[in-house]
Amino acid sequence: MDLARYLRDVPDFPKPGILFKDITPMLGSTEAMREAIERLGRLDVGRVDKVAAIESRGFLFGVPLALRLGVGFVPVRKPGKLPWKTHRVEYSLEYGTDAVEIHQDGVRAGERVLLVDDLLATGGTMGAACKLVENCGGIVAACAFVVELCFLPGRARLQGRRVESLLQVR
Ligand code: AMP
Repeated sequence: MDLARYLRDVPDFPKPGILFKDITPMLGSTEAMREAIERLGRLDVGRVDKVAAIESRGFLFGVPLALRLGVGFVPVRKPGKLPWKTHRVEYSLEYGTDAVEIHQDGVRAGERVLLVDDLLATGGTMGAACKLVENCGGIVAACAFVVELCFLPGRARLQGRRVESLLQVR
């Protein structure tokens, strides 16, 4: 199955110059979602004890992937959203900074975590999520994406980590 057929290009969203990769056609197809989760679940990344994903589109793939692998799911969220004690990591954007948080007890020491998000652009968000897992004492098994924008330096920013993607946009 050609999963790329289930992505929609939306020019100039959310601002001029950005070509937004819309995953809603994929979400709307049981066949495409089943295929995407199956392919993510088959990635050869060694033992996986938890799946962690970044809000909000990462959750759409992270929860079914965790179910498919038979492991628990851990949410990574923007500041102030998680109710329990959190770790926080800040990361730089083109202008300014942003941050992500994880529950301190979301990942236990020594657990191997597969991180997932819908799309790899600059890698800033995923890099911060990896640090959160490590702040909990976890080990990053791999960073998995449905879509990778290869013309951006996301993979380089995640250097030293295992990076997997289902669809590469060049
Ligand atoms: P980055 O931290 O730059 O790798 O950005 C990754 C996050 O931003 C992902 O969670 C994506 O959902 C979102 N994102 C960035 N660029 C795009 C794009 N061109 N199309 C769709 N989502 C994007």
